Amino acid sequence: MPNTPADYSLARNKSYCNFCPGYCCYRLPGATLLIKAEDINRLARYFDISDGEVRKRFLEDKNTFKTREDGSCILLANDRMCKRCTIHEARPKKCSDFPYDNPCPYLENPGLMDIIQPRIEQSLAEAVGKGE
Ligand code: SF4
Ligand code: SF4
Repeated sequence: MPNTPADYSLARNKSYCNFCPGYCCYRLPGATLLIKAEDINRLARYFDISDGEVRKRFLEDKNTFKTREDGSCILLANDRMCKRCTIHEARPKKCSDFPYDNPCPYLENPGLMDIIQPRIEQSLAEAVGKGE
């Protein structure tokens, strides 16, 4: 049977994530990354701090991470273009599950990439300028 374009969809295989600057780590209007209690506890163990301290340092409200002005997750490194999650081993389940065995909606949507790519390049330029 011939292959269809969907068979080649980007990021149906999660290995694409290893070479991606993390478009999905930028908050877009209407989108929220929901963090659960077990995610907070995993992070607390990772940093060897209390759940309350995790909430204080990283959470914007009860269940989502703080973001920077450009929408990037507070836990995303700005000094590199791939492998940018600074808590990769302890990241929330929603982050590790995304895009849920579906093609990556970011890599398949040039409009979304057009919004996020300039932010990535700007933060990288600033980080390099500061010698981070
Ligand atoms: S899910 Fe998509 S946007 Fe997110 S890291 Fe993987 S390839 Fe990149
Ligand atoms: S925790 Fe890591 S994978 Fe999840 S949004 Fe933040 S930087 Fe991205």
